[in-house]
Amino acid sequence: MNLNVLIVAEQKNGKLANVSYELIAAAKKSGGTIMTVCLAESAEGMAAELAARGGGKVLAISNPALKFYSDDIYAKVISAVIKKYQPQLVLGPATFYGKALFARLAALNTGAMASDITDLKSEEGKIVITRPSYGGNVLVDLTNAENRIFFATIRPKVYEESKDGPGEVIKESIEPSLFTGKGMVKEMIAESGQSISLTEADTIVTAGRGVRGPENLPLVKELADSLGAAFGASRAIVDAGWIAYSHQIGQTGKTVNPKLYIAVGISGAIQHLVGMQSSKTIVAINRDKDAPIFNIASFGIVGDLFEIVPALTAKFQSVK
Ligand SMILES: Cc1cc2nc3c(=O)[nH]c(=O)nc-3n(C[C@H](O)[C@H](O)[C@H](O)COP(=O)(O)OP(=O)(O)OC[C@H]3O[C@@H](n4cnc5c(N)ncnc54)[C@H](O)[C@@H]3O)c2cc1C
Repeated sequence: MNLNVLIVAEQKNGKLANVSYELIAAAKKSGGTIMTVCLAESAEGMAAELAARGGGKVLAISNPALKFYSDDIYAKVISAVIKKYQPQLVLGPATFYGKALFARLAALNTGAMASDITDLKSEEGKIVITRPSYGGNVLVDLTNAENRIFFATIRPKVYEESKDGPGEVIKESIEPSLFTGKGMVKEMIAESGQSISLTEADTIVTAGRGVRGPENLPLVKELADSLGAAFGASRAIVDAGWIAYSHQIGQTGKTVNPKLYIAVGISGAIQHLVGMQSSKTIVAINRDKDAPIFNIASFGIVGDLFEIVPALTAKFQSVK
């Protein structure tokens, strides 16, 4: 069976998210024929970038209604593409938007759905997908028993970005009525203080209740800035109202997979660990040598964060 794979690229403000190139790398691993769809107010330029990186046939769909992400309109337009090209596997990113979009796409197309996957392959004509379960303690292999279309979102930073490969841009025309939805996003306002996306970041510095109060968060933020890192938080300090929910990492927050994760004043509760334990290198700063975070840390610093964090920041700033 020739496997047809459709990738749904992610873009924000007319700029492709790097995870789109990771999706191409994952699709290449499936051994199937790759096709990519890029939706935007003006998609041609980004479609050309995807084609140059091995995105296969890249369908550029441009319309003013696609300027901002909308569950409703994006799902209708992509469903029309699925109907026309009949892929067996549809891949997207396990990001804030990807997770919402793919649940909707799977329902609209009566497909099978696997979210936040970390591997995929094709075995004897069947797609086999791997996803962490039970808080990352078990890796489950899933296959599609009923031959429905398989929808899967891929955890960012698991695959290296695809650098090259065959590709061509196709301007795809879509039935105009699909560009209207029940709601319309008129404006997106970026939250101040977080310029780097947590799910895309190579380095993350995260603050927990050990920082004692919101007045001390700038201390940890400075460390993040000295490394060009994104700034994360435990749920304890989100619930306390010290920082916005968009920074939360863990079971009920974001799942991240950076190269370097620095946990400052975080105990390491299981609900936090499930969101970050696949980070490549974990550095924990905690004054309690028995804190559970040290069980998964690559490097542990036992001591007072109010002494250690400024010293680290000064060191990183001096070598910039
Ligand atoms: C259903 C459910 C979902 C949840 N989802 C999440 C989630 O998504 N994300 C999440 O993070 N949590 C989540 N939680 C909460 C989780 O159980 C913990 O309560 C939370 O992670 C604790 O946050 P913390 O580590 O910042 O605080 P604490 O557990 O209070 O730890 C603070 C740490 O700081 C250290 N410390 C204190 N002072 C200093 C100092 N001066 N220097 C160095 N270290 C110091 C202490 O030794 C301690 O280890 C969830 C809980 C439930 C029940």
